Amino acid sequence: MDKADVVIVGAGHGGAQCAIALRQNGFTGTITVIGREPEYPYERPPLSKEYFAREKTFDRLYIRPETFWAEKEVPFLLGVEVTDVDARAKRLTLSNGKTMEYGKLVWATGGDPRRLSCSGADLAGVHAVRTRADCDLLMAEVDAGTKNIVVIGGGYIGLEAAAVLSKLGLNVTLLEALPRVLARVAGEDLSAFYQKEHRDHGVDLRTGVAVDCLEGDGHKVTGVKLADGSVIPAEAVIVGIGIVPAVGPLITAGAVGANGVDVDEYCRTSLPDVYAIGDCAAFACDFAGGNVMRVESVQNANDMATCVAKAICGDEKPYKAFPWFWSNQYDLRLQTAGINLGFDQTVIRGNPEDRSFSVVYLKQGKVVALDCVNMVKDYVQGRKLVEAGASPDAERLADKDVPLKELL
Ligand SMILES: Cc1cc2nc3c(=O)[nH]c(=O)nc-3n(C[C@H](O)[C@H](O)[C@H](O)COP(=O)(O)OP(=O)(O)OC[C@H]3O[C@@H](n4cnc5c(N)ncnc54)[C@H](O)[C@@H]3O)c2cc1C
Repeated sequence: MDKADVVIVGAGHGGAQCAIALRQNGFTGTITVIGREPEYPYERPPLSKEYFAREKTFDRLYIRPETFWAEKEVPFLLGVEVTDVDARAKRLTLSNGKTMEYGKLVWATGGDPRRLSCSGADLAGVHAVRTRADCDLLMAEVDAGTKNIVVIGGGYIGLEAAAVLSKLGLNVTLLEALPRVLARVAGEDLSAFYQKEHRDHGVDLRTGVAVDCLEGDGHKVTGVKLADGSVIPAEAVIVGIGIVPAVGPLITAGAVGANGVDVDEYCRTSLPDVYAIGDCAAFACDFAGGNVMRVESVQNANDMATCVAKAICGDEKPYKAFPWFWSNQYDLRLQTAGINLGFDQTVIRGNPEDRSFSVVYLKQGKVVALDCVNMVKDYVQGRKLVEAGASPDAERLADKDVPLKELL
């Protein structure tokens, strides 16, 4: 039977960073990383951006070169899934039939793309964008001459994919069930701005539409049928409607969790010596008024990973990292600082028509978050307002010529 002092499950952003931070913090014990995908850890964000647009090749996405992991004595079991956790025996069962014992377990499994529940969801030509394999399949469809593509879901991934595809010259229809895109993560101003951008770039963007089913020829998708009976022809469909946290084996083992697995302020699950980090971990977020939530971002995965690595090395401190995020669409760079949950006021700095502006979110007069579009200075200075819990004068806040650092 194999054994390691620390076993990390999931070879994505969080898993990789945890192994890196363990060694950086002087951990000399044995580490094994188990990952379901066949690749060494790579950056996921470019899958809907530079990699998809073929501006970056895959070899530029690796978080570290293969030689790094050998030098740091971090072996990987790739293409292997953990199917069962025995928390009492501290033993994992793997999809290759083997077992693995752990001293500490770090669960860093992210999530699986949420699938459509309607008929036709399993047809060929229906894609998610979560892994390199997903993205390569999609790129092959484009190479094979796909002209009409429907993107279901107006979240960041769907919008980024739509931007790339429209730049490649495809006929793109984007369908969002809610009345506006980005409804779960952004205020109305930002949604309206991106809706206009996509339409200006030729995307047929429709909000408030319900998908009835996907139609096919018995094998491959041919179109998307809407609730009103109309059909949008499509040779390929992208489904970008969120993820389901990949926590099945942990929950079966008795870990507490409803939306993902619950962790305390030290990223500890309710099982002994089992931590969870990244997209799959639900925690009480200081930057969201203590609400228990999962945060799906590279920042969160990396910072939780570092927090756990330090704890394992004896430097246990609560997880309090500042949340930030980015999204690239067309020539627009969005940078988000803080979490806007529960905001009751927004202030716009600059004019969206200039394609360079910020939305500041306030809750009871305090700045809780910013969305900055092509406004790097606001992002850099604005995050300090969030960290400080500043309550600036609304009029000065709205004046884009007043640097945010003056409002601290
Ligand atoms: C297309 C795309 C674009 C994105 N863009 C941005 C962006 O611009 N900015 C940003 O901040 N974030 C972005 N994100 C989100 C970001 O990539 C995630 O928040 C981040 O990858 C989370 O890291 P993680 O370690 O929790 O999970 P992941 O990086 O998803 O890694 C989890 C790994 O665990 C594996 N796994 C799952 N179950 C098991 C199991 N039982 N056994 C073994 N292995 C398992 C999975 O296959 C996966 O490889 C994007 C995500 C996607 C998909």
